Amino acid sequence: MKKQKLKHRTQKLKKFVITGGKGGTGKSTVAVLFANKFIRKNKRIVLVDCDVECPNDYLLLGQKLGKPRERVYAEFPKLIKEKCTKCGLCAKTCRSNAIFQAPGEHPVFIKELCSACGACWLVCPFGAIKPEKEEVGQIFFNKMKDNFWLITGAANPGLEETGPIVTQTKKFALKFARKIKAEIVLFDTAPGTHCPVITALLGSDLAFCVTEPTPMGTHDLNLILDLCQKLKVSAKVILNQADLGDKKGVKKIVKKFKTKIEKEIPYSKRLVEAYSKGKLLNFQLCQI
Ligand code: SF4
Ligand code: SF4
Repeated sequence: MKKQKLKHRTQKLKKFVITGGKGGTGKSTVAVLFANKFIRKNKRIVLVDCDVECPNDYLLLGQKLGKPRERVYAEFPKLIKEKCTKCGLCAKTCRSNAIFQAPGEHPVFIKELCSACGACWLVCPFGAIKPEKEEVGQIFFNKMKDNFWLITGAANPGLEETGPIVTQTKKFALKFARKIKAEIVLFDTAPGTHCPVITALLGSDLAFCVTEPTPMGTHDLNLILDLCQKLKVSAKVILNQADLGDKKGVKKIVKKFKTKIEKEIPYSKRLVEAYSKGKLLNFQLCQI
């Protein structure tokens, strides 16, 4: 009985993703406007900022991040020189090129390139590498309204591999959403088609790809729709600043992927003003 109840609750939770191959297309603005739409329909919604290298949804909502609700850790390799025979196996194994080893020297770990995958300490035949836990990011929490919560993932500055922070932020958000019986979780991803975006997209019900009618917007829309197709995530397109460019290219890509433009948002000075003042939640002109 308990299992049945849990299944029912899980089925009700919709996981939408706001993404876009290109930066600066208004992805975060659209994410907040989407949240706005659902709040006004009295839905219980959790907005999750997964753009962990540069989270900004809290700014658009006029919030401060405050103290972290949870900290995210990763394990990085540390060399035990006395045990190392300089065999070179770890450097050959590392796929991220995060281990530099000059001939006859000890390996040197380049943390900025390390994805914390753990392969090097697993392959070392002499146990000369030990994993060391380190904080790599934080998760923040803001209660916005009775039916609206914001969860923000943030990576420590300079961190190259931010996928684990997106994974943890998603996990935290989904657990919380199920606990409060939310109806919708809205993930706002980083721009691009790299690992953190893939992590945010995996397992979602529908992705809204935000683009603009420019050659770059068209090019990057092709990439993100291709990625969604490969991940088997249904995707629709939101065309932002729709009246400021030539839509032909975007329409061609939309046709190629057999999807549709869900909404065209025209340029609006009022929207830009609301954005810059952190008052997007009060914005009603451009309902999606
Ligand atoms: S695999 Fe182990 S022993 Fe070989 S170079 Fe790397 S750390 Fe040293
Ligand atoms: S943990 Fe993985 S990425 Fe980092 S140095 Fe070792 S093998 Fe390379």
